[in-house]
Parts: sequence; C-alpha cells; structure tokens
Amino acid sequence: MTPDLHAHSTASDGLLTPAALVARAASRGVDVIALTDHDDTLGLAAAGQAAAAAGIRFVPGVEISATWERHTVHVVGLHVDATDAVLTQGLMQVRAGRETRARHIGQALARVGIGGAYEGARELAGGDHLISRAHFARYLVAQGKASSTRDVFRSYLVPGKPGHVPHAWAPLVDAIAWIHAAGGQAVLAHPGRYAVTPTGMQRLLATFRDAGGDALEVISGTHTRTECETFAGHARSFGLLASTGSDFHGPDESPHDLGSLPALMPGTTPVWARW
Ligand SMILES: [Zn+2]
Ligand SMILES: [Zn+2]
Repeated sequence: MTPDLHAHSTASDGLLTPAALVARAASRGVDVIALTDHDDTLGLAAAGQAAAAAGIRFVPGVEISATWERHTVHVVGLHVDATDAVLTQGLMQVRAGRETRARHIGQALARVGIGGAYEGARELAGGDHLISRAHFARYLVAQGKASSTRDVFRSYLVPGKPGHVPHAWAPLVDAIAWIHAAGGQAVLAHPGRYAVTPTGMQRLLATFRDAGGDALEVISGTHTRTECETFAGHARSFGLLASTGSDFHGPDESPHDLGSLPALMPGTTPVWARW
C-alpha cells in the first residue's frame, strides 16, 4: 500500500484542482489518497470522483487550524463526513477568522510599504475561497519582494516579522471534537513544525491524547528522517496511531512530491489499522 494522507488542492492553498491532485497521486503510484484542505471540505466531492475514475482509494479529509497554548497547530481529520453539522459549523467559524486575519496581514504589510497585498492574495485564492498565508507568499513573490514563497515566510510572515499577525484559532480540543462528531480520526499534523521545547512537545501530545486524539503524523514531507524516527517513538509511547502524508501543495512548492514518502516504521500502528 502506498498511502498519502495529507494533501492540498485549490479548495484551500494548493496549486492543483482536486481532480488534478488525485490524478497526479494515481500517476505517481499512490493508491490511497486523502484530500485534507485547510478548514474547508469544498474539494472532496470532485476528488472522490477523480479517485473512483483512477481506481484508487479516497479518504475524505480536512486540516483544521487550532490553537494550543500560544501555538498554532494543525489537526488533520481523516474519513470525515463533510455534511456533519458540527464540523460544518466549526469550519465556518475558522474560515471567518481566516478572513479577518487576512485583512490584518494586508494592513500590516501596507505599513511596511507593500500595498494591495490583501487584494492580491484574495485574487490568487480565487472566488470566495479561503485565504491562507501561502496566497500572500505567492503574491509577494509575483511582486518581486522575495525569490521564493519560503523566503516570504522567513522575511515577512513568521513571528517577529512585519506581516505576522497573531491569531486565535479554535481550541485544539474543539477541533478534535468536530472531527469525531463527523465520524473521523483526529491526527496531529506535522509535529516537527511546531516551535516547542521537548517538554512542550510532551505536554502537547498528552493534551492531544487526553482530548481523544487518535494519531500522530509520524511521516511528513516536512520532517527530516530523524524527526520521523523521533515521532514514531512518541506515537508508541503515547499510544497514538501513526499517519503519513506529504502535505503536498504544488509541484514547485513542496519538498516531497506525492508518492515519494518513506514507509512507516515497524513498531508503529498505522491509522488504517482501524479502517
Ligand atoms: Zn499544516
Ligand atoms: Zn497541510
């Protein structure tokens, strides 16, 4: 089995449409694909159809932005029922918060002489789709303010930089509860990306587990080999299932393409053991 349980489409801040994403996954040997757009389930129907056409298994998912202590953390929901009222309502709230944050980012960038960033990001996001910092990053690259989206994050969008806007998302426990209400498994996404101390990580994992969290994303396109091994150990010691996902956003933006992840370590129990 070659699963990829974390990927983005144009329904959030990915560069490929849901159907194109699934087709790319299938052509690269992925046989189980989850679409996990940020805070929206808009792309699931089209992705599901594309997976059926390509003959691969589809997992309807979502990636919810949440707040734990002072950190933004991401919780992937796998096998969620997108029509569930609790989940739908929760995601609507999070998207409203995103819109407010985007306007504040636009104002913050204007103060350092970069005008029109909100409008630019809004246009790149398309229609009334949600806006993420990736849209701002792409706009700033197009404006010649940086050479890559990674540089934009480093120079403008992370804490301490002029375009950073602190934002309170839904509490972590709420995000887990919404996913469970919709019948899904809650997976703590890319734990290696959070700027926490080793003690902080133990606290985060304990909180996540005690709130009913199901799995840890041990293999991530954003993890080093060492991080994958560290988090495999954490999954075992906290009794969490192990998940795997590239966090693919687009061919030129993501460190790992679909279908190129290392295998899960022996000794971990994969999320799909409960499917
Ligand atoms: Zn994420
Ligand atoms: Zn993601």
